Amino acid sequence: RKPIVAVVGRPNVGKSTLFNALAGEMISIVKDTPGITRDRIYADISWLDKNFTLIDTGGIEPDSGDIILSQMREQAQIAIDTADVILFMVDVKQGLVDADSKVADMLRRSHKPVVLVVNKVDSFQKYMADVYEFYNLGIGDPWPISAANRMGIGDMLDEVVRHF
Ligand code: GDP
Ligand code: MG
Repeated sequence: RKPIVAVVGRPNVGKSTLFNALAGEMISIVKDTPGITRDRIYADISWLDKNFTLIDTGGIEPDSGDIILSQMREQAQIAIDTADVILFMVDVKQGLVDADSKVADMLRRSHKPVVLVVNKVDSFQKYMADVYEFYNLGIGDPWPISAANRMGIGDMLDEVVRHF
C-alpha cells in the first residue's frame, strides 16, 4: 500500500493551507472520508517518483488551551497509529509554545519518522533566525516553508519521501 503522511499541529499553524496547496497542484482525489475521524481529509500526492496519501488532521476547534492540547494529543496519537511519516507543523510567527513541546514529546517517544515543518516563513531573510528556536523541540531539523506563498515545499517533500 501507499505510505501515509499525516499533518499534525496546533490550530491555525497552516495545516489545511499546506494540504490544499499540495492537493490543488498534484492531487488525483480529494475527499472527506467519513467514519474514521471527523473531518479528516485525504489526498493522493505524487512527488518525483513517489506516491503517498496525505492526511489533514483538521477538526480542532480553537477553544480553551486544555481542550486544544487534549485534542492535539488525540490527533497525534491517531497519526502515530496510522501514518508512516508524521509532518509536525509549527508556526514561526507564534514561536515555540508549550503545546508544541508536549506533542513533540509524544511524537519522539513513538519512534515514527517526524518531519518538523516551520510554516509562515514568508520571507526567509526576515524569519530564518526565528526558525532555529525549534531545534529545542528535539525532533530534528526544522524545515522552513510558507504554505501560503508555496516556498520551501519542494525541499520539505524531498525530506518526507526520504523516509519511505
Ligand atoms: P490549520 O488550522 O492548521 O489548518 O490552519 P489553516 O490552514 O486553516 O491556516 C490558518 C491561518 O494561517 C489562515 O489564515 C491562513 O491563511 C494562514 N496561513 C497559512 N499558511 C500561511 C503562511 O505560509 N503564511 C502566512 N502568513 N499565513 C499563513
Ligand atoms: Mg485545518
